[in-house]
Amino acid sequence: MIYHASMAEISYHSTRSGAKAPDCSLPFSRALVQGIAGDGGLFVPSSFPRIDIGDSGLWGLSYQELAERILTPFLSGFSGEEIRTCISSAYSDDFRSSEIAPVHSCGSSHFIELYHGKTLAFKDMALSILPHFLQTAVKSLAIEDRIVILTATSGDTGKAALEGFAGVEGTEIIVFYPDKGVSEVQKRQMTTQLGENTHVCAIEGNFDDAQSGVKALFADPELRELLSHRGYRFSSANSINIGRLLPQIVYYFSSYFRLIREKKLQPGEKINVVVPTGNFGNILAARYAGEMGLPVGRYICASNQNNVLTDFFRSGTYDLNRPFSTTISPSMDILISSNLERFLYEISGRDSAATASLMEQLKRDGSYTINRSMREHMENFYGGCADDQATVETIGTLYRDYGYLVDTHTAVAYRVLEEYRRSSGDERQALIASTASPFKFSRSVCRGIGIETEGLDDFALNHLLAKQCGQALPEPIVDLEQRAVRHKLHVDKDGMKSLVQELLP
Ligand SMILES: *Cc1c(COP(=O)(O)O)cnc(C)c1O
Repeated sequence: MIYHASMAEISYHSTRSGAKAPDCSLPFSRALVQGIAGDGGLFVPSSFPRIDIGDSGLWGLSYQELAERILTPFLSGFSGEEIRTCISSAYSDDFRSSEIAPVHSCGSSHFIELYHGKTLAFKDMALSILPHFLQTAVKSLAIEDRIVILTATSGDTGKAALEGFAGVEGTEIIVFYPDKGVSEVQKRQMTTQLGENTHVCAIEGNFDDAQSGVKALFADPELRELLSHRGYRFSSANSINIGRLLPQIVYYFSSYFRLIREKKLQPGEKINVVVPTGNFGNILAARYAGEMGLPVGRYICASNQNNVLTDFFRSGTYDLNRPFSTTISPSMDILISSNLERFLYEISGRDSAATASLMEQLKRDGSYTINRSMREHMENFYGGCADDQATVETIGTLYRDYGYLVDTHTAVAYRVLEEYRRSSGDERQALIASTASPFKFSRSVCRGIGIETEGLDDFALNHLLAKQCGQALPEPIVDLEQRAVRHKLHVDKDGMKSLVQELLP
């Protein structure tokens, strides 16, 4: 494979100031370490390299080889050697499938299983490589401060970030999770985390409280100043970090190529992509893949009862003024989808003033409406939602019809796909992002396939579920209930700042 060195290097700029603003065209390493742009906007790549789907030399590449091919143009400032090291360290035997992201087909629906990493959720796909990116960037920028990763989690990010950063030289990681709204298994995964540089704290409230609390910490100049004196520098592992987004492009291509190899797809044939969506990171990565040449028909954005995105795709109005629901797919219990800002930037024709103005309206009124031209540019998106009852039913249907077990998030996606197929008549083959192992959400999965859950905790249910469907319990959670709880911190939103100061002496 020849990589054209003559290609203009990709740089990164803010969605709110654009590429022409001074000091706003950074190499990957800087955008990565900074996390969020100085004007509050999100970093976006200056261009998207093309991947030629018809190039049969790509079809048989391993996941790692394909990742190198896709990521290299984005990683400006990294040497080829550094890129290969990042990729091989991340996508290693830590994954329980040598394919990294295997595909399971049920008729014309193809599930990309993104949960074979250490924490059993798709966050591992990006968070296993992000720490290696950061280490490389910090070295190349000759930064001497300790990097502090501050993260708010709706359940899966926190654990994946903890695993990714645990023991990584020169870093500290602090994870805040909402005390209401993560599953028992998710909570135990986090509170038992090993590693001297890991810190975990429960926050009174829901995910949006935790996320806005973390955003406030990032934006606090006094705190930044104080910690800088102590030799620390904040960085983010949330999906607003461009380093989280880029690795997620890879598996959309790897799945497509696999379906070509299996002769289920003709090269160039369009496919629909269905993503259970929270912060809009995963589906945005699919859109970026489309920009790079992946032949996508429709992007189907699936939500649970927190269906702010469904309404947005149907009406063009994004409106936060609605109740927040706690559901059985907690990683999608989100009203503020941060990555949507990057999408607005694209559909406005990369208009930073328009993007900044919409974000301003969101902050001021809790809502905004996009203009006609932007709506026209998102016609290849479809939004749908499924409530908890439909989700549980769908788990049962898939198990009965195909003997295939999915988690609650993936079930939301499949349900929305079915509804989309019925209402549109578009029966095109579909790639579905399967984002978590069913064993992470065993209570709802058991209910779906008719296992009595009364009086049993999630750990007991895991064992029961494994037995019932003849699968071994995934290794990372086999003895979870016996591990010692190491993290017992609990504060309200106002206590976050002083806690961070205590944790970083
Ligand atoms: C994070 C997560 C999602 C949502 O992904 P976004 O990139 O935030 O849209 C969906 N399902 C699971 C299991 C997750 O962990």
